[in-house]
Amino acid sequence: MKGFEYLQAELDEMKKEGTFRELVPLESDQGSKVVINGKEVIQLSSNNYLGLTSHPRLRKAALKSVEKYGAGTGSVRTIAGTFTMHMELEKKLAKFKHTEAALVFQSGFTTNQGVLSAILTAEDVVISDELNHASIIDGIRLTKAARRIYKHVNMEDLEKALQETQNYRKRLIVTDGVFSMDGNIAPLQKIVELAEKYDALVMVDDAHASGVLGKNGRGTVNHFGLDGRVHIQVGTLSKAIGVLGGYVASTRTLIDYLIHKGRPFLFSTSHPPAVTEANIEAINVLLEEPERIETLWKNTTFFKEGLKNLGFNIGKSETPITPVIVGDEALAHQFSDTLLTYGVFAQGIAFPTVAKGQARVRTIVTSEHSKEELQEALNIFEKAGKELKIIS
Ligand SMILES: *Cc1c(COP(=O)(O)O)cnc(C)c1O
Repeated sequence: MKGFEYLQAELDEMKKEGTFRELVPLESDQGSKVVINGKEVIQLSSNNYLGLTSHPRLRKAALKSVEKYGAGTGSVRTIAGTFTMHMELEKKLAKFKHTEAALVFQSGFTTNQGVLSAILTAEDVVISDELNHASIIDGIRLTKAARRIYKHVNMEDLEKALQETQNYRKRLIVTDGVFSMDGNIAPLQKIVELAEKYDALVMVDDAHASGVLGKNGRGTVNHFGLDGRVHIQVGTLSKAIGVLGGYVASTRTLIDYLIHKGRPFLFSTSHPPAVTEANIEAINVLLEEPERIETLWKNTTFFKEGLKNLGFNIGKSETPITPVIVGDEALAHQFSDTLLTYGVFAQGIAFPTVAKGQARVRTIVTSEHSKEELQEALNIFEKAGKELKIIS
């Protein structure tokens, strides 16, 4: 069919530059090892921090709910698609996050879009960290609010933005809790202090912090002892929680408002029973199996130290996300391909996901990795790194 030659030209250019990527299908469940192309390899690219994607209790909860309620819900939440299980999950999430209420969206991505587009108008301004997740950027694109981007985690620049925006009705500071490509934690204590000084709202996206930081994985707000001082906490149910979905935890007022104005909530069908019941069970597991988080952090320390000792540039990561920064885009992908040949799945990440010249292989360890697996992965990183002259 004719018509897409202009798109094909761009793809051909990417192929020439070595940045065109094929999707990599897994042939097993998501675990510390996965099967790719018939071969078992160590998985270092998933967000399955606590191994919940295939936890027996989550599988069982999903199966039971399918038997009782079927495969789908048949409606959006606001018409006929709210089941008691949806309410139960939201109640659980609010309690977990120490907030008055919570509301679940189809994904973390649509949560950010839904919240930002609903609560800001042309009278307001949104003040956003320059490395915030794409879903926050897209959410901001959907509002008519003015926008100010501050330099990454730079609190002087944030304060300057606050000083220069005093004439707006509302000011909303928005930040990732843990930055997804670098693994560093936002300076939330300082952000909250500035917000209180200048009477601004704070919104934190804890996609990579829920299940990882704070008591039982409650996230960065709890980690910094800021319960009750952050207006909006966004989380995802798709990463450490192991299933699918996003949510916002906040006051009753904001949740009631979003039920009426959050467009992805209003116009997209509710989560199927298997997803919702598995999410509920995941929160139970977080509360009852805190040792998973301890193991996650032990593994994190071991693997990070190992990479650093080998001489890799791991940036400023403070969490289980550890980037191995190589700079050149084609080299990052070549590194990833070489690692896979030797038995480690760690994806290369390049522009536009990270800045030009900052291409990397990003690793995420989980609580499921054994020490032996992590040591084997380090040996493979050493071999591939030396072969490609990334380390000497
Ligand atoms: C992954 C991620 C999201 C999107 O969450 P999904 O549930 O996968 O849609 C949003 N924000 C951040 C910071 C993320 O890392």
